[in-house]
Amino acid sequence: EKVLGIETSCDETSVAVVAGGEEILANIISSQIKTHKRYGGVVPEIASRKHVENIAVVVEQALTEAALSWEDINAVAVTQGPGLVGALLVGVSTAKAIAYSLKKPLLGIHHLMGHIYAVFLENKGIKLPLLCLVVSGGHTSLLVLEGYGRMRLLGQTRDDAAGEAFDKVARALGLSYPGGPEIERIAREGNAGAIQFPRAWLEGGSLDFSFSGLKSAVLNYINRAGQKGEEVIQEDVAASFQQAVIDVLVGKAFAALKDTGLNQLAVVGGVAANGSLTSALRKRAVVEGAEIFNPSPILCTDNGAMIACAGYHALKGGQDAGLDLNAVPNLPLNYL
Ligand code: ATP
Ligand code: MG
Ligand code: FE
Repeated sequence: EKVLGIETSCDETSVAVVAGGEEILANIISSQIKTHKRYGGVVPEIASRKHVENIAVVVEQALTEAALSWEDINAVAVTQGPGLVGALLVGVSTAKAIAYSLKKPLLGIHHLMGHIYAVFLENKGIKLPLLCLVVSGGHTSLLVLEGYGRMRLLGQTRDDAAGEAFDKVARALGLSYPGGPEIERIAREGNAGAIQFPRAWLEGGSLDFSFSGLKSAVLNYINRAGQKGEEVIQEDVAASFQQAVIDVLVGKAFAALKDTGLNQLAVVGGVAANGSLTSALRKRAVVEGAEIFNPSPILCTDNGAMIACAGYHALKGGQDAGLDLNAVPNLPLNYL
């Protein structure tokens, strides 16, 4: 089955075609980063307008690249939420129009189910139940995936998401949006042990996260140095901050593997594109005898292929949304 996947929840207009839930025939990603960069973040109204301008072209490009015609598409999957309401509506309306005219099933996908299913696009031999570390712009969670749409939540952030912390620290360092890749880039030239930033382990045994204390510590460090007229070595701040995030993510992910008795870990979402994070996880996995699965960087950040993949599994599960499918900006994940 060939599933068309549409993702417009934030600032990427992306359309993909995925066959059999794993073979990517096309994955067109039209990023609006250049447009939003000068505002230092995503401007919702501009994002919606750009999606409207781009969506038809991106759909056409996806079909062309996949060398398919409309009749070859077996189902249409779209991100229903969470995300920016105006942005989501562009994808949802487009998906409905296509599904209606083709008389094919329509699948409303939770954006995080998309991020999680991205790992199945390139990796064979993943078994369920699977421990997932979801680290993105808006989420930081540890959960056990037991089947499509069936998850057990082990822990999540109590304040900022990991990606949000990267973006805010980058902004304070005068780096451009989005901050994660910029921090990773300059951190390579820095000393991760230069500054001792706090690690929030929370109460013993907790698999929850907290990054706002770390973020404040970094902002205070930068402000204080500024007041005293001391030089801030950006590379050291970036490397030390990144190391603090990595230490906690790695520590809690392996604590969760131990608690659950599982030995496979999927790390997904935009922050999972961070090579220092994934290499730290892999290094620890060698010691602990665990296996790490991670999508390629382009499949970690927002893309249509992950939505098409999740859509394939939703279809197998017998889902078919009606044409009254609506965008839900704060769509919750239903945990078991
Ligand atoms: P969500 O998926 O939670 O709704 P989102 O869709 O905005 O939020 P993603 O697209 O998953 O988030 O990821 C974007 C986030 O990932 C941004 O915060 C960005 O800074 C971060 N990010 C991207 N690449 C890297 C990297 N190499 N290192 C660290 N963070 C990164
Ligand atoms: Mg984005
Ligand atoms: Fe995302």
